[in-house]
Amino acid sequence: MSFVLAIVGRPNVGKSTLFNRLVGKKLALVDDQPGVTRDLREGAARLGDLRFTVIDTAGLEDATDDSLQGRMRRLSERAVEMADAVLFLIDARAGITPNDTLFGDILRRSGKPVILAANKAEGRAGEAGYFEAYNLGLGEPIGLSAEHGEGMAELAVVLQDLI
Ligand code: GDP
Ligand code: MG
Repeated sequence: MSFVLAIVGRPNVGKSTLFNRLVGKKLALVDDQPGVTRDLREGAARLGDLRFTVIDTAGLEDATDDSLQGRMRRLSERAVEMADAVLFLIDARAGITPNDTLFGDILRRSGKPVILAANKAEGRAGEAGYFEAYNLGLGEPIGLSAEHGEGMAELAVVLQDLI
């Protein structure tokens, strides 16, 4: 049985970009526009010597028939149920939003191990958001750039202890 890591977070934080980097294929759609993808997506991930299953929680982007918060809650809860650990992404450039705080609360109550990562942390633009992420009360964030491949070694170190 493969270790399952679910990537959760509000729309546009870079979940699918990270999923694609871990899976090594363009399985998940990456887009600036909302409404691109619907379902949870699963792939075989490689990170250094680690092999595991990764779930991209697409579908949070599709909020036409219900409140975004309601859909986020249901989808993230489904993904968290399926997962052995959760990778919670925030956008270091945008900083912490009310939906990030909502997610953080759901995840803290889940009882699953949570890895907090501040994505889009390349360069100076992500510094303030990275430090804001400490306020979520989920420990020290990993600074990531899914687009540029930064922080992947730190992610591997944290995952190694869980797998
Ligand atoms: P998702 O909605 O959480 O799946 O986010 P996506 O993976 O679709 O990415 C949303 C946007 O953020 C896209 O324009 C990506 O190119 C961009 N993005 C993703 N990762 C990074 C990153 O590390 N740095 C920067 N600057 N942009 C990123
Ligand atoms: Mg996506």
